[in-house]
Amino acid sequence: MKYLQIALNVPANQTFTYANVEAGKRVAQEEKEQNELIPLKRARKVDSFEAQVGSRAEVMFGNKKMTGIITAIFDELPQDLSFDPKKIRKILRVLDEKPMLSKELLDLGRWISNFYLCPIGEALRAMIPDAKRGGDAGGFSSVDADSFEGKNQLSEEQSKAVDAIAGAAVKAKESGGQDACLYHYLYGATGSGKTEVFLSAAEKILERGQGVLYLVPEIGLTPQVVSAVTRRFGNTAAIIHSHLSPAQKLGEWKRIINKEARVVIGARSAVFAPIPDLGLIIIDEEHDSSYKSGNAPRYHARQVAMRRASKLKIPLVMGSATPSVEAWKAIEEKQFICHRLTKRLSGGKMPIIAAIDLSKEKMNGAISVPLEEEIRQTLKEKRQAILFLNRRGFNHVFRCNACGFEVKCKNCSVPMTYHKAKNRLICHYCSYSVDPFRVCPQCGSVDIGYSGFGTEFIESEVASKFPNARALRLDTDAVEKKGELEEKIAAFKKGEYDILLGTQMIAKGLNFPSLKLVGVILADTSLHLPDFRAAEKTFSLITQVAGRAGRFFPDGKVLVQTYSPTNPAVYCACHSRSKEFYDEELSARRLLNFPPYSRLLRLVFRSMVQSDAEAFAADAYKILSKELEALQAKHLSNSKETEILGPSECPLAKINSNYRSQILLRGPSVALLQKIAASLVYGYRAKDGVYIEVDVDPVSLL
Ligand code: ADP
Ligand code: ZN
Ligand code: ZN
Repeated sequence: MKYLQIALNVPANQTFTYANVEAGKRVAQEEKEQNELIPLKRARKVDSFEAQVGSRAEVMFGNKKMTGIITAIFDELPQDLSFDPKKIRKILRVLDEKPMLSKELLDLGRWISNFYLCPIGEALRAMIPDAKRGGDAGGFSSVDADSFEGKNQLSEEQSKAVDAIAGAAVKAKESGGQDACLYHYLYGATGSGKTEVFLSAAEKILERGQGVLYLVPEIGLTPQVVSAVTRRFGNTAAIIHSHLSPAQKLGEWKRIINKEARVVIGARSAVFAPIPDLGLIIIDEEHDSSYKSGNAPRYHARQVAMRRASKLKIPLVMGSATPSVEAWKAIEEKQFICHRLTKRLSGGKMPIIAAIDLSKEKMNGAISVPLEEEIRQTLKEKRQAILFLNRRGFNHVFRCNACGFEVKCKNCSVPMTYHKAKNRLICHYCSYSVDPFRVCPQCGSVDIGYSGFGTEFIESEVASKFPNARALRLDTDAVEKKGELEEKIAAFKKGEYDILLGTQMIAKGLNFPSLKLVGVILADTSLHLPDFRAAEKTFSLITQVAGRAGRFFPDGKVLVQTYSPTNPAVYCACHSRSKEFYDEELSARRLLNFPPYSRLLRLVFRSMVQSDAEAFAADAYKILSKELEALQAKHLSNSKETEILGPSECPLAKINSNYRSQILLRGPSVALLQKIAASLVYGYRAKDGVYIEVDVDPVSLL
């Protein structure tokens, strides 16, 4: 117990050797000795716990105090030590009485480090809350905890699915895994009762004494699932949401480690919840892109959950009305067992969906005449309508009609959006804002104008076209305070508003009993993005938002405004032809050799200095090509089919004053792509101020 190997979140893929200190020891003096920067009066008596693998330890690294994770403990230093043993420093103290990371999670961290090509310390830090001491998350009021909800009698389809999922858990536990397929997919339209299946399966697992992990896309956007979980499981549930402070999150982590909470519901990072004796993982809305982390380590919660489930030999069940294209392929190839839910169970029917071809309509604003009439009819019947547009702000593009000048952000290569309420032009990527122009900044012409429209624009159009309707706008500009979204959604549900308009914030997981009409203002917003998932995103968004209608009454109606009614994504979504969409999309991906028919690894090189980013990308290309050629010369399998695309400017060439170039590795084997990229990531020192972002299996190429 003399030496500790410690992983620190520093940009080096290694762990560091420290000497242990005795548990309970006064460490203040040591701290003082090691760091002259800490004045004596601040030195204090601090408890140190016994060192255990997986616990956090406080250490000095250089002259910085850092918290790391103990990854190994040993009595003797290895013979082939590459540094002077006298240089080994003592740790300051061990922070945890019980390890934060079990062996299972430490192994998972190593896998993340290898798979996503990030230093081990960075991987482990991403897995635990960033606080020293735990706080109280508040929990639930006793009323909430006591009011367990009366359960629905499961339909036949539902009970079959529950039995299969819970049965797989029993079998896996008894046989220690076996070859049984552990991946299940619950595929059913919106409102077909998937949540009910998840809750019932979870309940069976809990009854057996095992824990459950329940992942949802964004906790703020799924208040109804969260409240269903708390009503059903009360205080045995831990809710990991983004409003928790790091200390509160750590407090919840401890409740989980101590087995006080046995079902954990949360967004992406909850995939690391330290649930002892985990028995089931649920991923709701599997297709959702928020499961992929935008920062290093750029992990995908679905991929991590699959790894956890397969190592623990426990079932994983995913569900969606619009599976991701890769999940669809896995279902077709029987890698996932698919359970179908085909009916709406609370009195609803799938709504009638119709497309409105905007190129054939005389437009006065953004709401066409047929949509306007349908809204009027809905209001007359004292029912509710949702208007959906995936774009914030008032206008989209500022343009000079004399010289064609468009206002772009000075930090980012994207147009700025006019926000009327704030009377500013705002960049949606970096929040930079300027006053609106009166004359063209380039040629001085006063013949300037705005085009395109966002949710604020729709809000004012609704106000002028339906002056008596009570309208509510929901988007990230309209919701600023904690709890505001939940309050507003509840008010709409209660009938305090007639029209709800907003961005994708209103597209997911919401049930509104008296909703009749859903209007999609423009289905094409994501259709023409230079990204191979543009069609998939468009199809899924239209289908999801359309699914809000007709959940409780059979007369739901959806009108989809579009300039591309014959585009397969739009056409199939409007005609509920899912299989046709996936077939078409899969054959397009096959033709273009995009995932799921190939794997991708994306490298982005960024710098404030454009020529530095470009030069680094060019150098990187040479290193990667050399590595690939060497592998090809050895005839390594799949190496011939592997290619290096680029370097090129990213579609978003500049974000936050950083110029961005990219290289894309593509091939049949992700292991090979990782091997090639590792030669660069761990073997090359970039010029100061140039950064490399590694994205394995990217979901977006913008
Ligand atoms: P999904 O998750 O597929 O969108 P939900 O689970 O939210 O669907 O269910 C939609 C509605 O159907 C909810 O109001 C739910 O209470 C109701 N429901 C689910 N299962 C049943 C059932 N077996 N009997 C009656 N109503 C049900
Ligand atoms: Zn001009
Ligand atoms: Zn910007």
